[in-house]
Amino acid sequence: MKFEKFAIADEIKDNLIKNGYFRTTDIQYKAIPAIMNGEDVLAIAQTGSGKTAAFAIPIINQIHQYKTSKRSHSIKCLVLVPTRELAQQIGEVFAKLSRHTKATSYAIYGGVEQDPQISQLEGGVDILIATPGRMFDLISQQHIDISGVSVLVLDEADHMLDLGFIDDIEAVKRKLQHHHQTLFFSATINPKIKKLAYSQIRSSALRIQVSPEKMVSKNVTHSVVKVEMDQKRHLLVNFIQANPKVKCMIFVRTQVRAERVIAHLAKNSIEAISIHGGMEQEDREKNLDLFRKKDFGWLIATDVTARGIDLPGITHVINYDLPDEPENYVHRVGRTGRGFSKGEAISFYSSEEQEKLQQIEDFIQTKINQLKVHKEHLESEPFISNEMSFADMIAAEEARISRATKKKVKK
Ligand code: AMP
Repeated sequence: MKFEKFAIADEIKDNLIKNGYFRTTDIQYKAIPAIMNGEDVLAIAQTGSGKTAAFAIPIINQIHQYKTSKRSHSIKCLVLVPTRELAQQIGEVFAKLSRHTKATSYAIYGGVEQDPQISQLEGGVDILIATPGRMFDLISQQHIDISGVSVLVLDEADHMLDLGFIDDIEAVKRKLQHHHQTLFFSATINPKIKKLAYSQIRSSALRIQVSPEKMVSKNVTHSVVKVEMDQKRHLLVNFIQANPKVKCMIFVRTQVRAERVIAHLAKNSIEAISIHGGMEQEDREKNLDLFRKKDFGWLIATDVTARGIDLPGITHVINYDLPDEPENYVHRVGRTGRGFSKGEAISFYSSEEQEKLQQIEDFIQTKINQLKVHKEHLESEPFISNEMSFADMIAAEEARISRATKKKVKK
């Protein structure tokens, strides 16, 4: 559906067009009218499906219609998110979509100086996007008053509830206006968390749930490759050398492994960028920004950036290690194939990770396509002399196996 059909302010419609949003994604089509109606929403939508705009559009519209000037007297909407990067990113979406409207927004998060955030808050803000730690800190110092909040949004709600923030969320809800609207957005949810989420939503209100049939977006082709631990680095180097023109996120299990992979790539004259929780916030932001601006490149990341982060133009995701939490598989592969674009995800798994693969397949209720690579791609490097895509590498191996099988049958 076209955005024009919604009864939203013209300024927002202009902003949508300027940002290349012409028609709604599924979640936007389903959630926007319900939110505009004042309903509580629990939306389970695949990662990269346009969740942020699904709640940002009706919220900005409501505030814009209700205010008489740009001046902000109190916080009217609070968006809670689990990570700093997500707070920044959602802040940017609100800023883009609210240009020339009367709604103001601001994102606060830890790891950076409080003072600039405090002075911005003193100037007034309608929509506050926050990570819980920094928000509670500033509430306790009385720089934030959330008693005027009428809309509470929890993004990556399952993670927030799972991280044990439930008491904090209840405490926040007690401080809000008595009649407030609660919006939970999440890409994944398990039955325990779902129950917890429902306990936080108005029982009298109509609840909507937008559930995808498949957790991994149809825009993403995803497969696994069996490769032993000590062969992973060879396969990665071969893949990179064969595919110099891709923009790829490579997920590893720990900070130490991230550093090791970076070092191994450097030894092979491959320059990659890294981001993990052990880095200073300033460096995390700098590297993310650097990667964001690149047309091609390699970002080695831990799960700190698995959720929600929207980096433009990611063509590939490689799970160098399988994630410990099965739901993080969905979040990681969801870094590609965003909006209406297509992506490819490949996961390396070793014998030790067989059980994790099983857990992921159980979680997504899908048997993931298994690829085979030629053993030479696993042993030495640089192996590939001419450009050969990952698909070519696999096709070559499949053809070899098929030839071998035919020979056997003939005998
Ligand atoms: P999100 O799930 O909110 O992180 O959004 C995923 C990506 O889809 C982002 O790059 C958005 O800019 C893009 N996007 C969201 N809604 C639309 C839309 N209606 N049309 C085109 N792109 C969109």
